[in-house]
Order: sequence, then structure tokens, then C-alpha cells
Amino acid sequence: MKFLSSLSFVLLLLCFNSCMKGESVDLIIHNARIHTMDEQLNIEDAVAIKDGLIVEVGPERQILNKYSADEYIDAAQRDVYPGFEDAHAHLLGFARRKTMVELAGSKSYEEMLLRLEKFEAKYEPEVLVGFGWDQSLWGMTELPDNKKLNERFPDIPVFIRRVDGHSALVNQKMIEVSRLMEQLGDLPAGIEGGQVVLNDDGSPTGMLVDNAMGLMWNELPEISEEEVKKMMLEIQHDLFVYGITGIHEAGIDDDGLKLLEEMVSNGELELNIYGMLYPTKNNISFARKNGIYTNKNLIIRSFKVVGDGALGSRGACMKEPYSDKPGHLGFLTTPMERIREIARICEETGYQMNTHAIGDSTNKLILNINREMFERNPDHRWRLEHAQVVDVEDIPLFGKSATLPSVQPTHAISDQRWAEERIGHERLKGAYAYKSLLDQYGMVALGTDFPIEDLNPFRTIHAAVNRNTLENDPPEGFLKDEALSFDECMQGMTKWAAFASFQEDRLGTIEEGKEATIVIFVNPVSANPNFKQNFAHSTFIKGKKVYSVE
Ligand SMILES: [Zn+2]
Repeated sequence: MKFLSSLSFVLLLLCFNSCMKGESVDLIIHNARIHTMDEQLNIEDAVAIKDGLIVEVGPERQILNKYSADEYIDAAQRDVYPGFEDAHAHLLGFARRKTMVELAGSKSYEEMLLRLEKFEAKYEPEVLVGFGWDQSLWGMTELPDNKKLNERFPDIPVFIRRVDGHSALVNQKMIEVSRLMEQLGDLPAGIEGGQVVLNDDGSPTGMLVDNAMGLMWNELPEISEEEVKKMMLEIQHDLFVYGITGIHEAGIDDDGLKLLEEMVSNGELELNIYGMLYPTKNNISFARKNGIYTNKNLIIRSFKVVGDGALGSRGACMKEPYSDKPGHLGFLTTPMERIREIARICEETGYQMNTHAIGDSTNKLILNINREMFERNPDHRWRLEHAQVVDVEDIPLFGKSATLPSVQPTHAISDQRWAEERIGHERLKGAYAYKSLLDQYGMVALGTDFPIEDLNPFRTIHAAVNRNTLENDPPEGFLKDEALSFDECMQGMTKWAAFASFQEDRLGTIEEGKEATIVIFVNPVSANPNFKQNFAHSTFIKGKKVYSVE
């Protein structure tokens, strides 16, 4: 009897205890400033997480009383956000670029040559391949020629791409081994969607713009898959450090798709990847066979169309000639009939068409295609990537065609030094016009286009809201009327990016039922004009901690 009563006492105590503890979950993050990004942009104190999903988010006492967790994180009043999503990025391109000579930030032609020399001495490659030079940092508007490059590198082929990736400088040796002039034949300027820049005497300057770079592909050394994989994992780590848990990969070739599939399947890539396929023969077969495709954290349901080139290399297709190059309009890098064909394939496979459009002519052409699509499917969510220079008259077409603008605020800041020179004052009114575009669709998806720009999302916030460099140049902001508010910017990096990739049911907000893909930041997240670097304290994907400062 005595034994029984003590047993029932213990049972009673156990029951009491567990009733007090409540429902069991895996993790509770509390004492936080949780920016839910829900409809009202509510801020809450605590969130309960189980099996990778958000069970409940709410006031501190409510969550702590209702649930008992295996792990508690006291966030010490830090900002918590849904994991950031970079809506336009090149993970594969960045990984490949990391194996090349880094030329970004070279302050002169001479500095660029020095970097190339150092790399050559250290690695003794058979071909020197580099990326990232920008002549506007050397005080030059015109694209450079290869004279100094030839003097310094007479015997080794050199291929170095401009910062925007849309043009390259090659030396004489490279021109010889690639048999460039023979490839061109009688039509020196006859590259569809590209240009071999020539001197007055008809000899090449060494500059190849857009599709003309393709004449060199056969001469470039192959990069080992192992090396690319290693670099991809390094980049993934850097993304987690900045609180980026997902990217929209803006262009996947055949090799790239194979690599992504492999690394997602074996669990190496934990990042959410929304893939846009380049419309290659293999990729089109893939889409026809698989339709909308999901493999763990990899989703494939869009095609990336490269409509034109870049403004910096004057490859963007304009309605009227460039202000600093009479008679030159730029060009479409994909012919119109081909774009229409891809649009049909997108419609047939249920894929989204995401078109790179920089010039006002390209933007208009694509907006008209999207408008036809809108008649058949009002929720197509087809995107214009960059939407950089739009004729003010055409801006309403974004609304009429329900075209989703996918823009990169840091581009505005990088281009401000020379944008007016290229297109003149009048056309600037519809350039980098993020606020006007937002007003059309009600959303913008924000990205960095890394490695074209730094992958740091805090630079995006600074650029979008303050519209100037980290040193606050210009102080009044570049085309400041087109600035986004801080709240708009944060939505563009979270829930609007999720919507732009059909992932809004599981990502982009901290709400019941969504995936616990969230970040605790070290410093307050803000758009303070005095830029302060920020990093993730802890980064979670589906409830799993993928990075922590500790
Ligand atoms: Zn891009």
C-alpha cells in the first residue's frame, strides 16, 4: 500500500510536469525580434519549430508556456528574419570564376597586367583566363585594346572578361590560336548578337562583345569538376554567413545541371536552389521529360533567356543610338524568333520565362511577348531580369503584362559613374527605376547577380534604400526618387523573392506551417546611411543549423 501510494505520487508528478511543459518541439528561439514578414509585417518574440517546420510564432510567454523544446536559443533581442533569397545569382559561374585570375577592382590597366603576371608565375597555366576588369575604374570610357597585353604576354594566349561578363579582351596570341580572322571570314562584324571590335585598318582591337566571345570557347581550358565543386561549397558557406539560404540560379548549362543534381542528391548543397535553365537542346529535353522538377532543395521550372548584352559594353539593345557612340544601337543576343520559340516551350512545359533585358528596346519586345502570355495565364509570373533601362512610356507594360521585375540595386550604384554618358539624361528617367517597377507589379524580386556584384545582401539594402555607395557617394543618392523603402527592400529579399519562384507556400515568411528557414543576425538589420557590416549569428534551413558563429 505504501509502495502504491508513492508510485501514484510519482505518476501524478510526471503528469503534472508534462502538462506544464506542454507540446514538445525541437527548437524554440525566443527573446528575439522576429520579423515575420507576414501580411502586416508583424514582429513577434518567439518561434517554436518541429520537424523543420514552424509550429507557432508569437509572444514570449505564449510560446514558452505552450511548448517544451529539446533546444532553446535566447536570441538576446537580436533581429530574426526569414532566410534571405538572392533572386538573381550565378553560383556555377562564380565557382568557375574562382579558378581564374581575379581582376575585379584593378585600378589601372597596369594593375591588371600585374595580377595576370603574378598568377602566371604561380600556376604556370597554358592559357591565362581572367575575369572582372572594368575600364571605368581606370578613368576610361572606351573599351581598351590589347596593345599592352601583347607586349607583356607575347607567347601565352590570354582571355580576360570584363566585370559584366558581356565582353572580353584577348591578346594577339589568342587571336592567332583561335584563328579568329579565319572564323570570321568575309564578315568581320557578322556575328549574330555580338561584335568583334575592329581598328580603322580592319584589324581586331582584341575586344569581343557578347556572342563574339563564343569564337574563343574552344581555346579555353576545361576546369576540373572537383575544383568547381570545392569552390561551390566555399560560396555556399559565404552565403550562409550572410544569412542567404536560397538563390535563383540565373542560367544553368548542361554540365551545371549535372553538377547541381549530384551535389544536391548527396547532401553537399543544402542551399535552396531555384534553377533557370539555359535553353540548350539537352535542357529543353529535360523540361519536356520532367516538367516542373524537384529534387530535394533543387527546383527547376524556368528558362533563362539572354535577351541582350550589358550597358557597360554597349551590348544592351536600345531603341535609339547610345549617347556616347553615334549610330550604335547594341543588339539582341538571342534572335526574336528564337525568343518566341522558347516562350512557346515555356508555356508547353509550365516553365517560367526569365529574360535578361537591359536596353529599352529589349525590355519592350519582351514585355509584348509577356502581354500575350498574360491573356492566356494571368499568373504566369514571367520575369524580366535587370529591367535596367525602360522607356518611361513602356513602364506601364509591366502592369499590363503582369511581368515580375527582378532587379539588382547594387547595379544602379556601380553604373552611376557612367550611365548618363551612355544613355543621356532623358533616358535615365526610366533607368534603375525600381520604385516605378514595384508600383506596377506590387512586388520586385531583389538579387545581387553575384559574382558580377558582391554577394553581400547588406550592400543590396544600402543601395536600394540610400541609392549610393558604402561611402555615401553621391550624398543625395543616385536617382533617389526610385529608392525602395526599407520594408519594401526586406520583402524583395524574402517573400517577394519566394513568390517570384513559386515557393511562397513554404518560404519567405515566418508563419505557421512554413519551413523553418530563418536567420538570427549579429547586428540590427537596418538601412542606416552609415553602413555597418552585418552577418548571421545562426542560419537555419528547414530547422537545421547550417551555420553559426559559435
Ligand atoms: Zn546575371
